[in-house]
Amino acid sequence: MMTLQWRNWPSFWLSVGTARVLDMLLPPRCALCRAPVAEAHALCGDCWSDLPLLDGPACPASGLPLIGSPQAIAAYRSLPALMQRVPWHSLAATCFHDGSARHLVHRLKYLDDHAPAHLMARLMHQRLRATLPPEALAEALIVPVPLHRRRLWQRRFNQSALLAQRLSQLMNTPCLPDALLRTRPTPPQTGLSGSERRRNLRNAFSANPRHADALKGRVILLVDDVFTTGTTARACTHTLLKAGAAGVHVAVFALASQRRALHI
Ligand SMILES: [Zn+2]
Repeated sequence: MMTLQWRNWPSFWLSVGTARVLDMLLPPRCALCRAPVAEAHALCGDCWSDLPLLDGPACPASGLPLIGSPQAIAAYRSLPALMQRVPWHSLAATCFHDGSARHLVHRLKYLDDHAPAHLMARLMHQRLRATLPPEALAEALIVPVPLHRRRLWQRRFNQSALLAQRLSQLMNTPCLPDALLRTRPTPPQTGLSGSERRRNLRNAFSANPRHADALKGRVILLVDDVFTTGTTARACTHTLLKAGAAGVHVAVFALASQRRALHI
């Protein structure tokens, strides 16, 4: 766990070890409500039915589901103007940020419960396999959205790095948790307008000079837990492209959006 402070390692590994032993001894429980379930790292029927999963074709720029005929969807996805609005090659979102998805993010981020990361990464992997060609996934270098070191010290872990590392295991693809650095602390983006968010994140990220060679010419899979207005993903993507990355695919667990679909 490269994202942990060194002084936390002993207690962290002790807690991981204890959790693994308990996992083996106790019957599996729902990752949210702790009701008994058939397999580990799963949701019970009630929590699963409250998970607003995204499946089917989606807009590669916004991640929103597309509703229309197969011909209209194919034509829409190949519109040259579509991808000029965003700096990434594609955006894959797994769920809307509502219901059980919101609870999973909350548990992972604020309740210091890492158990949902297994399930969240597995669902993200399924979504990526459905939206990206296999060669794009095989060649990608996985990079999480970073936290500033002060926030990392307070929270003890970076939730996006946890998801990135689990995805890396599932995809058998390398992950560089510290390829991007948050060079200054920024207030939370919640409640800010679009222009305030952009101002808040101006020059907030840089590419880690230690990994300059690793980023050059590589296609990056940028991982974050929640996508709201895209300001963070945009700032990180610009930073990666400036550092020489060949392109960026964005993978997020939850998409916070008032719009539920694009009718085309
Ligand atoms: Zn449940």
